[in-house]
Amino acid sequence: MEYNCSEIILAQKNFFASGRTKNVHYRKTVLKKLLKEVRKRENDICDALYADFKKPKFESVMTETGIVISELQLTIRKLKSWTKPKRVFPSVLNFPSKDRVYSEPYGTTLVIAPWNYPYQLSLAPLIGAVAAGNTVVIKPSELTPNTSKIIAEIVSEVFEKDHVTVVQGGISVSQKLLAERWDYIFFTGSVNVGKIIAKAAAPHLTPVTLELGGKNPCIVDIHTDFELAAKRIVWGKFLNAGQTCIAPDYLIVQAQAKFDFTKALIDEIKAAYGENPQESPDYTRIVNEKNFNRLTSMIKEDEVLFGGVTDKDDLYIAPTILDEPALDSEAMRDEIFGPILPIQVYSSLEDISNIIANYEKPLALYVFSKDAKFANRMITRHSFGGGAINDTVMHFGNHRLPFGGVGESGMGAYHGKLSFDTFSHKKSVIKKANWLDIPIRYAPYNGKMKLLKFFLKYF
Ligand code: NAD
Repeated sequence: MEYNCSEIILAQKNFFASGRTKNVHYRKTVLKKLLKEVRKRENDICDALYADFKKPKFESVMTETGIVISELQLTIRKLKSWTKPKRVFPSVLNFPSKDRVYSEPYGTTLVIAPWNYPYQLSLAPLIGAVAAGNTVVIKPSELTPNTSKIIAEIVSEVFEKDHVTVVQGGISVSQKLLAERWDYIFFTGSVNVGKIIAKAAAPHLTPVTLELGGKNPCIVDIHTDFELAAKRIVWGKFLNAGQTCIAPDYLIVQAQAKFDFTKALIDEIKAAYGENPQESPDYTRIVNEKNFNRLTSMIKEDEVLFGGVTDKDDLYIAPTILDEPALDSEAMRDEIFGPILPIQVYSSLEDISNIIANYEKPLALYVFSKDAKFANRMITRHSFGGGAINDTVMHFGNHRLPFGGVGESGMGAYHGKLSFDTFSHKKSVIKKANWLDIPIRYAPYNGKMKLLKFFLKYF
């Protein structure tokens, strides 16, 4: 389909200028309509995700539709209080005044989404953008066409098209959209494309949120419940067949624990997906042939500790464990983003830092240890977007926690109230009373320095 991006954005700018999205009741009404529609279409969404890459229904509800429904419920419940101007304590320098922060929508916003959680990563930013009073263009991924189609259907059913619209297509469509002037761009995807987005936003100084990826380390200390740690790591790694931005990318296991922990991992993979994961109804496929080829070239036979089975026709790659691949090997160079789990080992804290220092700041870091001091040291010593002690991925599930990266894994964060905040400019306004006017700030200044310094102390 041919889109006239300039026309779409002009129509949205006019819609925003009409002031309709500034009305909180209107925002709430459309969000309620959205909630009704996504509930009604839940099975269709799960079917589309299955058609796109055999995502199991349970995972689709847990990581896609369920999250969107929860975010909507929370936002609808809290919208009135979030949108109210927030009174803050005035500065003594301003006395007497009433100081407030107003949340103001940016205007016309663009949401570009990836394919790995194609529904949730399109809809969750949409909820924040609409709640904050913006118009939205969503560009979902071209690699999951069934899901993108459903997203377009839901949006056109719920929203007036000049308020929210879906533009489908690949890189060229994305580039056409990026050539327009936006008031905010929210991008989820790879680091390389994130840099393209930042460049496209720069000429107009358009603010951006970049939710990117990275190589997420998962540190396993010897003082750990191996069975439980293996369960949580196997789940976080092989969920969505490893195509999760916050999946543990590689393990760093205490050297003496390697043998026993590897055995615990293998036992857990078998318990979760059976002797032949290709037959498991709970195991996702790789999204396309390009990614299949990229991933299979990381699997070197002599490094395979477990798995390694692949089937191109089915885009299937078995849960695979690799034995200490070199740090400059394909598996250890870039983000894996698939069901391949390399194991590295450490003997000292230095070893851990040396491995992690090879990479840009990751989106997530995980540490498994009963030793709270060791775990805290890992969490404070390294910079990363977010993470967990004794678990993987689950920090995503708390809407009170900001979700986002740092350095090359991204900038900005969202979820829950923070999604609303991300899509709002925080406008500070003081309302000065006229009944008193303290004259210190006015010229002539002579003889007022001491008093000024006194007031500055209580600023
Ligand atoms: P991608 O960067 O290839 O694509 C993301 C979106 O950008 C798609 O809609 C695509 O059409 C568009 N796009 C691709 N190339 C473009 C270009 N040259 N110019 C303009 N637009 C372009 O990412 P992907 O393969 O869909 O997703 C995988 C990546 O996303 C991984 O790196 C993963 O870590 C990351 N990710 C991050 C998060 C997060 O929340 N931080 C979540 C999911 C995925």
